[in-house]
Amino acid sequence: MIYLNGKFMPIEEAYVPVLDRGFIFGDGVYEVIPVYSRKPFRLTEHLRRLQYSLDGIRLKNPHTDEQWRALLEQIISHNAADDQYLYLHITRGVAKRDHAFPINIPPTVFIMSNPLLIPPQELLLTGIPAITASDNRWGRCDIKAISLLPNVLLRQLAIDSGAMETVLLRDGFLTEGAASNIFIAKNNVLLTPPKSHLMLPGITYDVVLELAQAHAIPYEVREITEEELRTADEVLLTSSTKEVMPIVSLDGRSIGGGKPGPMFKQLNQFYQQYKAVTMRAGNSALLSAE
Ligand code: PMP
Repeated sequence: MIYLNGKFMPIEEAYVPVLDRGFIFGDGVYEVIPVYSRKPFRLTEHLRRLQYSLDGIRLKNPHTDEQWRALLEQIISHNAADDQYLYLHITRGVAKRDHAFPINIPPTVFIMSNPLLIPPQELLLTGIPAITASDNRWGRCDIKAISLLPNVLLRQLAIDSGAMETVLLRDGFLTEGAASNIFIAKNNVLLTPPKSHLMLPGITYDVVLELAQAHAIPYEVREITEEELRTADEVLLTSSTKEVMPIVSLDGRSIGGGKPGPMFKQLNQFYQQYKAVTMRAGNSALLSAE
């Protein structure tokens, strides 16, 4: 069951007019929210980022947070899996084709849920290969925009070369992955680039930094050069659906001996613990170091 513009229906019955600005221009934003044991993870933070993305494209939020919560609860209960990922998609609505914003047009609001399949244990034990590419996206990668053509092309580069993610470099500095944020470890220090217009402010990125802080893992949020990336002891990716994953090669060259390292193991363990605790507590309280 999905939700489209005020109605719940099977996905096969859901249609959007061809003049929808999402279809015509990619004029919209989205969110992806993981649900564990039927409870959305970090929902407040995801709804805050949705508001940020809507503000970024100057589109009024069609719902209050309370309304979103109620809609999401219904979608979760209409779907069978205990672990799901929610996809929320809002476009600037249906109007005669014209770049300028239409006046008094209701937005299109779509929500669907799919079973959440977190990465298999085997991949966490072996790690995954990644490639690098030049980050040729626009200058507002902090907006979770539905126009994802560059991300699609960059991700396919990885698939074409048998890798699982494309790590992006802009002007000699690490930005993020085509669908993830990137951390490195060097001499037992966790490093990641600061939030800016050039990367998505990841919800998992925030969780990992909070966990580093709570567990006294030394970390620095600062620009990372290509050289630092390539000579890192470890490279990790984070995202809501992939959680924390170890990258063990870049462009066919091993990182840290080609095996997941201690920083990954520690952070993944803390992340799994944190998930279990927040799901039991039913809120997003942060695990303290104790
Ligand atoms: N960067 C990009 C480009 C992404 O598409 C994503 C999510 N798939 C992320 C980072 C990670 O964000 P989050 O942790 O909120 O899923």
